Amino acid sequence: MTIRKIALIGHPILRKVAEPIPVDQIRSAAVQTLIDDLIETMRDANGAGIAAPQVHESVQVTVIEVGNNPRYPYKPKIPLTVLINPVITALGDETFKNFEGCLSVPNLRGVVPRYARIRLTAFDREGRAIDTTYQGFTAGTMQHECDHLLGKLFVDQADPATFTTWDFFERFHKEHFLETTVKEVVAKYHS
Ligand code: ZN
Repeated sequence: MTIRKIALIGHPILRKVAEPIPVDQIRSAAVQTLIDDLIETMRDANGAGIAAPQVHESVQVTVIEVGNNPRYPYKPKIPLTVLINPVITALGDETFKNFEGCLSVPNLRGVVPRYARIRLTAFDREGRAIDTTYQGFTAGTMQHECDHLLGKLFVDQADPATFTTWDFFERFHKEHFLETTVKEVVAKYHS
């Protein structure tokens, strides 16, 4: 496993629509190595997830994991999840305002509207079909990562007036976010 270099905002690969992986290639050594490297790179950078374009590979693979995450200590835990060729559909039009950051956008956070309930279909790393639903912050994390595969970054949908450095998030915005959105979303969706 290798820790890969992370592409930063401005690199054109972050703006390309990633290619789907043919299902019969999911178990190939190349795809399995990419998945292992994504996991290692995400964990090294304390990300809640990372998508293949962020390591300069324009293919539809993303990995997500939230444990005791120092970047997002309030996020409900998500077990290690590997998604290949994911497709998200909103379930209803309910949204919440998520304060997001991104490994490809250093030292910036901003508020992004996210669907509160989604259906997600994909393949796992064994090539088995996944068809599941997510809600709350976990749904937000899935939308952020899958957006990377469509060439989208959180800054595209964020309200620019909410942009803040990570230091100033801690100093001026975190407490309010914890007392409002985090409390409400966790109480309502339990995730
Ligand atoms: Zn990101």
